[in-house]
Amino acid sequence: MKGSRYGRRIRKLSDTATKRKKDSYECPKCGKRSVKRISYALWECRSCGAKIAGGAYTLTTPTAKTARKMLAKEEAGEE
Ligand SMILES: [Zn+2]
Repeated sequence: MKGSRYGRRIRKLSDTATKRKKDSYECPKCGKRSVKRISYALWECRSCGAKIAGGAYTLTTPTAKTARKMLAKEEAGEE
């Protein structure tokens, strides 16, 4: 289906949300599994305090890369 770029993205995010949103993730800085989502696409390590911009519901996934691209585009477009 062409022309439904929003639909595809949203379905992908909600798929991962149901499975992943309560998980914690390994911190890229200290290596401990204590990274939790603190707000939309923003994650924080409870151990070392590192803040990571990731995906909406998962940390380091293709979704996260997409989210970063989206954010970068929005920032570039609005500034
Ligand atoms: Zn850490």
